[in-house]
Amino acid sequence: MNNRQFGQSGAVVSAIGQGSWQFPGSKNALEETKKALRYGVELGMTHIDTAEMYDDAELVIAEAIKGLAREELFLVSKVLPSNASYEGTLSACEKSLKRLGVDYLDCYLLHWRGKYPLEQTMSALEKLVDDGKIKSLGVSNFDMADLKEAESKLKKHKIVCNQVLYNVYERGIERNLIPYCQKKEIAVVGYTPFGLRKPPATNSKQGAVLDSICQKHAATPRQIMLSFLIREELLFTIPKAAQSAHTKENADAIRIKLDSADIERINEAFPAPDRDVPLAMV
Ligand code: NAP
Repeated sequence: MNNRQFGQSGAVVSAIGQGSWQFPGSKNALEETKKALRYGVELGMTHIDTAEMYDDAELVIAEAIKGLAREELFLVSKVLPSNASYEGTLSACEKSLKRLGVDYLDCYLLHWRGKYPLEQTMSALEKLVDDGKIKSLGVSNFDMADLKEAESKLKKHKIVCNQVLYNVYERGIERNLIPYCQKKEIAVVGYTPFGLRKPPATNSKQGAVLDSICQKHAATPRQIMLSFLIREELLFTIPKAAQSAHTKENADAIRIKLDSADIERINEAFPAPDRDVPLAMV
């Protein structure tokens, strides 16, 4: 599964993982969701992303991973900014552990910056590492200035990951954030890889480009998108799929190796901004 170093965590993690935001509500659909998640792990997508914010996702994941070897999984959760005081972060982590039915997280993130001083949250995250509740710590939706400030508040441990919006339509992070993270060995985990829309129609300019790259690699547009998003070391992507067929399609993207001509054509069809832009979020 094109496993790679997850920042400075020491862990080696599948470049394509699995998201868990907005699982379906109905009982039958949830059964399929659990199957799809577990199937994803079997296919090598061992990195599972969740958050206390995602309704019952942590409980659904707990059922999906029941009986699997804990050390085979890479579980990431997030504390909400509204809980991210020192004590609130410690307590939110305990609750996530309980819901997930595990005794540690592989990485724990501040979901986005909120009202609590970063010093408090970073200090709590460091305590959680020291106490063995989390293996590593990180942030999400942090642009350059916030990331540097968070780094400056840490005394012992390093930020190993910044989880940010990244897809072919939103490429602003390529200007400064990705190069900075690569320099500091911080994993960039891209969320919402499909950009909350269907792939462009084949009779559009973007769709035609994707289609020809798809034909070259015997792949689907979504697979080409995923492959593009993990084209460099330290880049990860976490598509969410609640249906096994989608899980399989996403996992199979790992076999694709885009060449420089493919990447150039994607760059032309889905251009990155030519000036600095604020970090986008969903
Ligand atoms: P996404 O993964 O880009 O898209 C999910 C949608 O794509 C679902 O409707 C899913 O359908 C569909 N899909 C997935 N694979 C497919 C396939 N092969 N073919 C057709 N449709 C497919 O969007 P996302 O859920 O926003 O982002 C992914 C994850 O990133 C989230 O689940 C969450 O874990 C994380 N995230 C983090 C933040 C943050 O602030 N840190 C924000 C947003 C998201 P089905 O579910 O029906 O299979």
